[in-house]
Amino acid sequence: MCGIVAYIGPREAYPILIKGLHRLEYRGYDSAGVCLLHDELQIYKCKGKVSELELFIDGQDTSGTIGMAHTRWATHGEPNQVNAHPHYSMNKSLAIIHNGIIENYGTLRSELINRGYVFTSETDTEVLIHLIEDIKENEKVELEEAVRIALNQVIGAYAIVVLSKENPDMIIAARKGSPMVIGIGKDEFFVASDATPIVEYTNNVVFMNDEEIAIIERNKELIIKTIRNKTTTPYIQKLELSLTSLEKGGFDHFMLKEIYEQPRSIRDSMRGRLHLEQGIISLGGIREYEQKLINARRIIITACGTSWHAGLVGEYLLEDLARIPVEVEYSSEFRYRNPIISEEDIVIAISQSGETADTLAAIELAKSKGATVLGICNVVGSSIARATHAGIFTHAGPEIGVASTKAFTAQVIVLTLMALKIAMKKGTITQSRFFQILSELETIPEKVELTLKKNDEVKAIAKIYKDVRNFIYLGRGYNFPVALEGALKLKEISYIHAEGYPAAEMKHGPIALIDAQMPVVVIATRRGTYEKVISNIQEVRARKGKIIAIINEGDEAVKKLADHFIEIPETEEFLVPLIATIPLQLLSYHIAVMRRCNVDQPRNLAKSVTVE
Ligand code: GLU
Repeated sequence: MCGIVAYIGPREAYPILIKGLHRLEYRGYDSAGVCLLHDELQIYKCKGKVSELELFIDGQDTSGTIGMAHTRWATHGEPNQVNAHPHYSMNKSLAIIHNGIIENYGTLRSELINRGYVFTSETDTEVLIHLIEDIKENEKVELEEAVRIALNQVIGAYAIVVLSKENPDMIIAARKGSPMVIGIGKDEFFVASDATPIVEYTNNVVFMNDEEIAIIERNKELIIKTIRNKTTTPYIQKLELSLTSLEKGGFDHFMLKEIYEQPRSIRDSMRGRLHLEQGIISLGGIREYEQKLINARRIIITACGTSWHAGLVGEYLLEDLARIPVEVEYSSEFRYRNPIISEEDIVIAISQSGETADTLAAIELAKSKGATVLGICNVVGSSIARATHAGIFTHAGPEIGVASTKAFTAQVIVLTLMALKIAMKKGTITQSRFFQILSELETIPEKVELTLKKNDEVKAIAKIYKDVRNFIYLGRGYNFPVALEGALKLKEISYIHAEGYPAAEMKHGPIALIDAQMPVVVIATRRGTYEKVISNIQEVRARKGKIIAIINEGDEAVKKLADHFIEIPETEEFLVPLIATIPLQLLSYHIAVMRRCNVDQPRNLAKSVTVE
């Protein structure tokens, strides 16, 4: 994943770069490094987080009005100082930062070693800078041309920034597969993996396209060309991102802030789409494809991680309401298993960041087979938003905590609106039922708000179970994806092993794990398979497992069976995931905090998974 940031202009680069790295740290935090160009290319880098880099650099010369910085999520080579970016070329006249994977690095590396190059790191990135130096020296070409020729030899994904001692007023940036944004200030330029390091300086940005190279020079116009050497006109867009959305705003962690933002983010994701008075849902982003959706032979939802769980809820919704067969696929499996896709299929790709490499590849595959591809993303201008034929943005606002929370509920809202819209148009639900559901949807933000008030009760339960080693989460129907999502949240941030299961499947395996030490979280809301879930609770109790039940308000029957319970407001069965997920997010949050885990930056993980 990695976060990259670069600056050229009249100001001192270092503070801008460090601040930028902090904003990008959600993308990786194995190591961090900075390169400042001031006569020489001065690199400072170390293992660990950006704050450790700051301590490491403290007292050193950080002057310079041009520089670049990197925060790493290691793919090739262990996270240590040597493998940290930036990397020098052999004669130290060039330096590079990179986000992505150079897949043919092995071959390139052997060729370069044969030509006398000495490698200091184990990274795939280092081959690229030696290659650029090699081309520059041997072919006697300008820096940008050397970068261009080198990129033509590369297989894989990259967002790179290259600085050269001999070109002290120039930044070369390029991308393919990994994101990159250029901010254009009055007489300054910013380059970053996303717009968050840029927004406080300028609103004018250019989202680079794949296989483009940017030649950024002090006091000159920005030049963009493709790696095939075709000059293109930069398309300057206005950013709509507020600075306050990037700060913790009084909360201890971004994750907690984002959990509490859900009444707002759900409302924002419905705003302008759900018109209660007129009794309509309008989804402008996919208007052109409405008829196609209604006629779809099948819908394939492709996603990874939490978005995949939202996709499962989407499957239940679309089948239940709109009566269209749906398959939900892990993007990483889908793309490599020769799936059957036809022109009558609609593929819906879901990704918070809009940069998920596997999902992007799945989109390309589906497009190549003639399918219509729609996106559900949270980041405007992201690669997936641009690669799909059309789509709907979730308006969750920037999600910084690595464990996804508000993006999940926003994705579910968008899928709900979509399913309802198609159902209404297809006539698979009646108009009166449609109106009834719209009114219920309107109440969801308020019900989420009420659920958030259960925070202290959830915290008390967290305290009891914080030291256990395993957890099981059970749910049926719409609550099965909720169980999966609850278990994933706990794994991600507290490092407790957790399994999410369809409640009835428990007896086909996981029941063997249940003993008096095993907490079992059961989502047992009324409606649907409620009675069946009660039987599943009894099965756990019979084996002395500890029941933590998520129930509807006033459900005395389950209260009597459970060791602990959290009451949530009642709603339509298919809207329960929007509410039942909230206490599970809080449970994992509190357990992780009590275990002193780094909630916003859990080990080994990173947000925006731009590598496969
Ligand atoms: N492959 C590079 C490395 O391991 C960059 C990693 C990334 O972008 O995730 O250093």
